[in-house]
Amino acid sequence: MTAAVHAPAAALEARDLSARLGEAAILHDITLALPSGRWTCIVGPNGAGKSTLLKALAGLLPHRGSVALLGRSLADWSSRQRAQQLSWLGQNEGSADDLTVWDVAMLGRLPHQAWLSAPSEADRAAVERALRATQAWEWRARSLGQLSGGERQRVLLARALAVEAQVLLMDEPLANLDPPHQADWLDVVQALVREGKTVVSVLHEIAMALHADELVVMAQGRVTHQGPCADETTHRALEAVFDQRITVHQLQGQWVVLPRLRP
Ligand code: ADP
Ligand code: MG
Repeated sequence: MTAAVHAPAAALEARDLSARLGEAAILHDITLALPSGRWTCIVGPNGAGKSTLLKALAGLLPHRGSVALLGRSLADWSSRQRAQQLSWLGQNEGSADDLTVWDVAMLGRLPHQAWLSAPSEADRAAVERALRATQAWEWRARSLGQLSGGERQRVLLARALAVEAQVLLMDEPLANLDPPHQADWLDVVQALVREGKTVVSVLHEIAMALHADELVVMAQGRVTHQGPCADETTHRALEAVFDQRITVHQLQGQWVVLPRLRP
């Protein structure tokens, strides 16, 4: 809780952020602030630039404009300090198939370890907590290659949790997860936010995304809307960005997203 109290209002802040991939301009002058101690979801159609934005915010992509992490320009962080404070789970990310589940989760501790030093008690404790949180603890001795897509995804999530960073960025973390494990992921995120951590995720599952605190709606490399998930204006922005092909309704205190079928 103390971390949340002392943290700046924005965990990540972008100003006039533009990025290119090859010859193509992908992000166009994005200015946004992602609140500290909250869960923000980035949503929008395929190709909107969500992954590119997340990478630029993580400092993984050359860009124009500025990005600040916890009130300090990305460029002013050492890569080690930044890796301790910002944890990353990429889209369709893999890891070496012959590594054990334990070793994959331990990779999340690298920013905390001295060069070639053995893992500390704190590292082991963090890895155990992370593997238990994603219900991957039972597989710790198995190699990654022996797991299903959804099981792997939970191990990669454990790796991201093991960092114990202040800010977590996750790109489509629910890919391959069955509904119970999607619900578990929601529990994990809500627990992180209660601890004062900041979570920023790209999600395709709009009904899940509406559980977040705030939505950032993107189309064609621009942010078309940012606002609380409970706001009507946010729902209308969501319907608009998907060409009115979805509708958002309230049912028994939850948001329900329905496809709008062509007449
Ligand atoms: P999203 O995550 O919202 O689906 P991305 O950020 O992955 O979108 O991609 C945004 C746009 O950039 C897409 O139109 C995609 O085709 C394009 N793109 C992705 N990678 C490259 C690349 N290496 N070179 C050129 N364009 C790319
Ligand atoms: Mg993407």
